[in-house]
Amino acid sequence: MTAAGIPALLEPIQARLDAATPGPWEASDVVDMDVDGTYELAHVLAPDPGEPETSTLGVALGILRPDAEFIANSPTDTARLLAAVKAVEELHKPFTHHFLTPPAGSVEICLACHEQWPCETVSAVEAALRGEA
Ligand SMILES: [Zn+2]
Repeated sequence: MTAAGIPALLEPIQARLDAATPGPWEASDVVDMDVDGTYELAHVLAPDPGEPETSTLGVALGILRPDAEFIANSPTDTARLLAAVKAVEELHKPFTHHFLTPPAGSVEICLACHEQWPCETVSAVEAALRGEA
């Protein structure tokens, strides 16, 4: 796979982020305990897109507080991770190097790494996005 693979691999992640209720999402304080009284439960709330100043929507209700924190921060964390991967992808682009001396020919090389294309960085990012890392 080439660098063109990274945007395609990011596209469904970006689409899910774009389709989610706009943030910021917030984990509530503890609102309840589970039936055994063992675990503290919280909600994740988002501004109601129709009335963002006065109303909230429940994104996840009655979940463990650490999960609420994780979910509440997921849109921001996902956006930052997408930006980081896109920044790496922008740096690592292929270019064709033509040999001026025999043997004639050319080879694709990464602009950032000067390694043969695809470079180790692009290969590692693509493998991670495919869940193979
Ligand atoms: Zn590279």
